[in-house]
Amino acid sequence: MSYSFFESVEKSFDKAAHFTKWDKGLLAQIKACNSVYSMRFPVKMDDGRIEVIEAYRVQHSQHKTPCKGGIRFSPEVNQDEVMALASLMTYKCAIVNVPFGGGKGGIKINPRKHSAYELEKITRRYTAELVKKNFIGPGIDVPAPDYGTGEREMAWIVDTYLSLKPGEIDGAGCVTGKPISQGGVNGRKEATGLGVFFGVREVCDMPDIMAKLGLATGIEGKRVIVQGLGNVGYHCAKFFREHGAIVVAIAEYEGAVYNENGINEEELFQYRKATGTVLNFGGATNIINSSDALELDCDILIPAALENVIDGKNAPNIKAKIIGEAANGPLTPEADEIFAGKGVLVIPDMYLNAGGVTVSYFEWLKNLSHVRYGRLEKRFTENMNHLILEEIEELTGKQATPKARKLIEHGPDEIDLVHSGLEETMISATREIMKIWKENPEIPDMRTAAYVCAINKVATSYTELGIFP
Ligand code: NAD
Repeated sequence: MSYSFFESVEKSFDKAAHFTKWDKGLLAQIKACNSVYSMRFPVKMDDGRIEVIEAYRVQHSQHKTPCKGGIRFSPEVNQDEVMALASLMTYKCAIVNVPFGGGKGGIKINPRKHSAYELEKITRRYTAELVKKNFIGPGIDVPAPDYGTGEREMAWIVDTYLSLKPGEIDGAGCVTGKPISQGGVNGRKEATGLGVFFGVREVCDMPDIMAKLGLATGIEGKRVIVQGLGNVGYHCAKFFREHGAIVVAIAEYEGAVYNENGINEEELFQYRKATGTVLNFGGATNIINSSDALELDCDILIPAALENVIDGKNAPNIKAKIIGEAANGPLTPEADEIFAGKGVLVIPDMYLNAGGVTVSYFEWLKNLSHVRYGRLEKRFTENMNHLILEEIEELTGKQATPKARKLIEHGPDEIDLVHSGLEETMISATREIMKIWKENPEIPDMRTAAYVCAINKVATSYTELGIFP
């Protein structure tokens, strides 16, 4: 049986709800998408043609506001997909204690088939439509990048919003993932990939889990396959490689490349930029049918492209012991069941790729506070650390090495604080979910444990609002 993406999310939710004690009506409210805005608007293309653009913004839950979630540009966008992604955002934010409700947006276009000028017109018009219906604003709904969008699109959104809402003092917080010059935060670009790395590393550091999987603890030496060399996939590959893992294969939509000695993602990225393909990359073997790469021998598989790429058909052939869902919804419910049966650990999207929204939260806070992280304390901390070090040196009669001195005296920059906040968030969330799973051995997989964690938090928040006493 095949399910739509939203149905898959509902199915996973129901499976988890069974392990909670909440009222049925409350569970139904949590599951429902509160507001769905489906829009059509005309845009004149470069050749003079008028195209009717299909787009969506879904606010899944306002149990906490603003709603938060990315905007996707893809020819596959449809209402069901945006609803599913918005629901996942509610659960994701709850797990990582980001005080937002879930939202998501999508524009049904292939960004590769439009000029930058056409994309700008589409993005600005979409933003104006959101403003007209009160579907965007720092206290209402705050979009961010997702598949097919990035800093450039976020800059167009904030500029359009501010021009329509002049004088709104917190207006920069209407969207996150902006360039630094437009109110962005250092560390947002790599946040999702880095969060995936922190989450998988934490699992790999759990001796009992690794023993069950027949793997050694730690990231070092683990063989990793990454699908998608976009923002998330690129940064996943980078952080795994930098921490001693071997990225043996990287898959893009035109094909994949394999090298048992490891692939450097930056070199591959530059190569693809120059040639338009990952194929024939120096020293690597071509895999013409890209999805075959998912079935190669490895320890960790990171799907970081799109949803439903692993289903009942290819799941039995997958050899990875750990699947880290960097993309949203890469596995179908059938695949989940097959992996649970095979003893493969699936680290679920719902929290594993929460790095983006976590750092978006930091960006939003920065916009509301109108001050860069670290600005107030950096010099103070450095001066204090310098004094403490001097005192220790005098008392011990020993000198710190120049390397140690630099490390100890360093006061935090924005990037240090953002990475540290992200690391703390991902480690705590991983431990919280694992604790729920261990305390209830009936829970079949980590995804269900993550849903239980999310449902408990959203339900508690509803009851605290007094809506469901
Ligand atoms: P992106 O557009 O930067 O990159 C996606 C990449 O996947 C592209 O390079 C594309 O060519 C490639 N791709 C498409 N189809 C493929 C296929 N069949 N096989 C292999 N590669 C394929 O998008 P992104 O921001 O990296 O998002 C990727 C996934 O991560 C999405 O599911 C998105 O919802 C999820 N995600 C993104 C963020 C974020 O902060 N950007 C946060 C959470 C989740």
